[in-house]
Amino acid sequence: MTAYPKMLAPLDLGFTTLKNRVLMGSMHTGLEETKDWNRVAEFYADRARGGVALMVTGGIGPNLEGSVLPGAAMMTSDQDVENHSIVTNRVHEAGGKIAMQILHAGRYSYGPKCVAPSPVKSPISPFPPNELDEEGIEKQIADIVNAAVLAQQAGYDGVEIMGSEGYFLNQFLVTHTNKREDRWGGSYENRMRLPIDVVRRTREAVGTNFIIIYRLSMIDLVPNGSTYDEVVQLAQEVEKAGATILNTGIGWHEARIPTIATSVPRAAFAWVTKKLMGKVGIPVITSNRINTPEVAEQVLSEGCADMVSMARPMLADADFVAKAAEGKSNQIAPCIACNQACLDHTFGGKLTSCLVNPRACHETELVLTPAESVKAIAIVGAGPAGLSTALAASERGHKVTLFDRASEIGGQLNMAKQVPGKEEFWGLVDWYRTMLAQSDVALELNREVSAGDLKGFDEVVIATGVVPRDPQIPGQDRANVVDYIDVLRHKAEVGKRVAVIGAGGIGFDVSEFLLHAGESPTENLPLWMQEWGVADPAEHRAGLAPEGPQPEAPAREVTLLQRKAERHGKRLGKTTGWIHRAALKMKDVNFVGGVNYEKIDDEGLHVSFGEARENPTVIAADTVVLCSGQLSERSLADTLEAQGTACHVIGGADLAAELDAKRAINQGTRLAASL
Ligand code: NAP
Ligand code: SF4
Repeated sequence: MTAYPKMLAPLDLGFTTLKNRVLMGSMHTGLEETKDWNRVAEFYADRARGGVALMVTGGIGPNLEGSVLPGAAMMTSDQDVENHSIVTNRVHEAGGKIAMQILHAGRYSYGPKCVAPSPVKSPISPFPPNELDEEGIEKQIADIVNAAVLAQQAGYDGVEIMGSEGYFLNQFLVTHTNKREDRWGGSYENRMRLPIDVVRRTREAVGTNFIIIYRLSMIDLVPNGSTYDEVVQLAQEVEKAGATILNTGIGWHEARIPTIATSVPRAAFAWVTKKLMGKVGIPVITSNRINTPEVAEQVLSEGCADMVSMARPMLADADFVAKAAEGKSNQIAPCIACNQACLDHTFGGKLTSCLVNPRACHETELVLTPAESVKAIAIVGAGPAGLSTALAASERGHKVTLFDRASEIGGQLNMAKQVPGKEEFWGLVDWYRTMLAQSDVALELNREVSAGDLKGFDEVVIATGVVPRDPQIPGQDRANVVDYIDVLRHKAEVGKRVAVIGAGGIGFDVSEFLLHAGESPTENLPLWMQEWGVADPAEHRAGLAPEGPQPEAPAREVTLLQRKAERHGKRLGKTTGWIHRAALKMKDVNFVGGVNYEKIDDEGLHVSFGEARENPTVIAADTVVLCSGQLSERSLADTLEAQGTACHVIGGADLAAELDAKRAINQGTRLAASL
């Protein structure tokens, strides 16, 4: 008997059956744009082998003006059909099903040719859209239908028509972006004409035995977005027009409420999808922050949806469904919703991958083949770099010993997990623990290793991490000056007024940690909704609470300082930096930049500004927390190198400036693949 009877139950669509209730949601990986169709095919085939019932590709443009970017993948020609057939054939051979997402970006299309119902520029694009005339609208519909027909010719099992997240079809629905007075604007009947026509004409063109998923925005989270009644009306009309499945989308891209970041509670929006259950006859899918089989099962058991969509979790572990079905859910590599290697890469124009699984989108290139000759490998440091090297080297058949002087594995991950909103890191450390226990790696904790201990190994890997940088501020040896490690390990007393020195990722995290008392909103959905101003869309248009965000009072008065004169948090993740900034702003954090640190004394922290050291100012503080970055811990590596012993130095020990788990895990896995 499985622990996930709902998640693993088949879903009969009439003309075809899905083998379980898991959809791999659409993600723009950048793979199609590499034009290496074998690589695209392997990415999807790997996930098909992993048991997911139906996959949706990244958004494919129906024409130039609707593509997300100039040069983005489109479905417009015989050559496109031929390329995509490589993918669909490989997926079908692997026993999977795949639908192509047709994404018309409208005013979100990043180029001067972008089109929209009205010339209203999006706040997240520099390009004002061109207003479509009647002929232009007809062309967009015809191009979308044509893309669906070509997708069918290419062997796809269906298409997903993207109608949410603030893209083209969504832009027609709301007065915020549709100011037209013709038959495509004004009344709701007119504004919803475009999505309905698109679905109806697509169905007419592809016939009955082809899946049409319509991605419907359940809660726009932008001012003047759709009302709940409008959403339900649209869902019913889309069903009548011939959709097979409704997939629900949450929030426009320009919404100022986080919807998928790690600080969003798990399954935070499933209750919104539930409001559609019983209102339509076709299956309904829910999504957003569902990342374990347990959460998926719970969402389905509570009747929130007929299916769950997981996108990023399928990057983290291609075998998600298969492992769940085999009763090995604790072996599923968890998506921690960090966005660091997926969405941040996409928006940075880089190929997508995954922080916890660097093989994602690199299936054909980063391959862990059995080792030609088995080596004895010593790895010093059980942080993310050392752990990933150990697991990958052991998988290849090497004899690995992993040392750490601490009593637990995880290194800096153990600090991240203490921060409210970063609870997912607990799961990541647990996963490493499970996988180590499963493997043949010999784990030696509480072991301070010397160069002499490393004799006799064929390969030595130094992953000793970092030490905090000493900012050398006069007075920093006072009892009320502490470093971030002691704060995050609950080893330091911190007063009510705090000055945080250094506004990098850790300065932000420590501020967040110090501002919260009691339960983390990430673990308490009503509290999180109140904090960000999310309301029931049936009561308030687009799900925006009229009173706006109402965060709990800050537990402390925090001043966050940096020497640079630039905007605080400028170097944080592209898709998450704004959330960290907004969260601290809501808690009245005082951002101070362009400072020189003069001294710390009984009055507090003395700073001045600019090269001329002007405007001397005292930041009154009971406690000063040092978050001034790190230096590589290389002492063991230096000793080995001095005595002529070759070693591989990875992670923070290699490069502290860019210390982060994404780089460490990728570097460790790649090293292991080469040993
Ligand atoms: P960091 O990002 O390098 O930031 C260090 C901070 O210390 C900067 O604000 C820097 O700003 C300041 N600083 C540098 N030298 C200083 C000195 N001599 N005296 C005083 N201040 C000094 O390092 P981090 O915050 O420790 O984070 C380490 C890494 O962890 C990051 O690279 C990031 O990848 C990762 N991380 C990311 C996140 C996240 O994205 N949320 C969270 C945690 C960790 P000024 O030079 O302007 O003063
Ligand atoms: Fe999830 Fe982070 Fe991997 Fe993206 S990079 S799939 S958010 S773990």
